Amino acid sequence: MKPCFGYIRVSTQKQGEGVSLDAQKDAIKVFASQNSLTVTKWFEEKETAAKSGRPVFNQMLRQLKQGKAAGLVMHKIDRSARNLRDWALVSELPKYGVKPYFAADGLDMETRGGRLSANLQAVIAEDYIHNLREECIKGLRGRLKQGLYPFRAPIGYLDNGRGKPKTPCPEKAPLIKLAYDQYASGQHSINSLQLEMQKQGLTNHTGRPVSKHGVETILRNPFYTGLIRIERTNETFPGVHDPIISMRQFQLVQEMKAGKAGKKVTRHNHLYRGLFRCGTCARSMIPERQKAHVYYRCQTVACPKNTIREDRLDRAILAAYQRVRISDQDATKMKEDWLIWLNTGDRQGVRCSLELRIAKIEDRQRRLTDLLLDGGIDRQAHDERKHSLAVELATLQEEHAELAKTDLSEADLSKFLELITSLPELHILLKPDEKRYLLKNCFSNLCVQANEPVFEPCSWLESRDFGQLTPLVNQLGPFLELLECQGIS
Ligand SMILES: [Zn+2]
Repeated sequence: MKPCFGYIRVSTQKQGEGVSLDAQKDAIKVFASQNSLTVTKWFEEKETAAKSGRPVFNQMLRQLKQGKAAGLVMHKIDRSARNLRDWALVSELPKYGVKPYFAADGLDMETRGGRLSANLQAVIAEDYIHNLREECIKGLRGRLKQGLYPFRAPIGYLDNGRGKPKTPCPEKAPLIKLAYDQYASGQHSINSLQLEMQKQGLTNHTGRPVSKHGVETILRNPFYTGLIRIERTNETFPGVHDPIISMRQFQLVQEMKAGKAGKKVTRHNHLYRGLFRCGTCARSMIPERQKAHVYYRCQTVACPKNTIREDRLDRAILAAYQRVRISDQDATKMKEDWLIWLNTGDRQGVRCSLELRIAKIEDRQRRLTDLLLDGGIDRQAHDERKHSLAVELATLQEEHAELAKTDLSEADLSKFLELITSLPELHILLKPDEKRYLLKNCFSNLCVQANEPVFEPCSWLESRDFGQLTPLVNQLGPFLELLECQGIS
């Protein structure tokens, strides 16, 4: 007697239709005894239309591939292979020494005729179950996989007809870039940016000014960086269209938006609102005005009342900048070191390391697909992972491209050195929003502990690794612009 698994499935959605679990089980038992098979383990799946994926089916396939049984008995093909992918997986079983049987169809999968017939039945079952909508989705997916966006072009791009990539709109694309630049400067809220873009003449598909919601949609759509993101299914595809926005700038804008969203709304626009947390309970320090002074306070009832006055906080920030800035002598030394570095092979090393990381991610993408096909990961986890890998890859590729085209120039290095030698002066000179921006990007985990602010310098402030300076200086674009505005550089 050959040990086999028995697999039965019912769809809870179409009750009354099809064959019940018990009837399927009986048919399989009869078939098994007629063919000298013993069912050693049963796998039962109740599926609903709402949840995709068949965990029992995948688990069973895993066990079969591990050699836990010599055969698999299913009832009928339309039960066992609801779609072609399932069917493909079943038809691969003989490779693992597992023979599939179909109790109701009486197909012998070992003969060519049997396989052909089974394949045909599977196709018919597939066809029967698929409705038009699914066909339509398949068409859309096909185009997405080719990097084409099968929907109306986002604002800033032009439609060129079915099967053709979107192209940047000569009038609107520069305005999209402007919107990102403006927001990244830290000087705008969504509200003020909407007004600004209205003034600049950015319109939507109906020719009206882009709404606040529209501006938000623009700022979070990675289409502008060359990726196609389908929010509903949480999937990302690499597009073939030309990007308008760099991935780095896109990520910066996302971080800034997240920072603003987390901020508590206060009646006054106090300078350091939402930037410092209570060191004890990690909640935001809330600004409040009392007489002539603004105080930042932890409002948590059970918390020791952490408080700091704004002018004291400001002095502490200045002192922190003074601690992290480097002296002019150090800057000169750094420039000398940089010249030495420039003439050695270090930059090549960075390039190689980037290429290595890119290759690694591409390899992980391939393995992720295999993992999904083997049922080792569920669809949602796969999609999330796939998205983050796509973003990571795009970022690295961008870094690589920039490294290749712009090696750090002496002018860039000088700007960088100007920046880290003049942080305290900058803090004094900057406008409130710029001050906040500089502070956020120079220190992480800003908090107040026992009424004293704690500053943790961001790694770039302490980085003396020239290999990292090119991407760093590029990242510092907005700072360097601030410097230029202040006439410091
Ligand atoms: Zn607290």
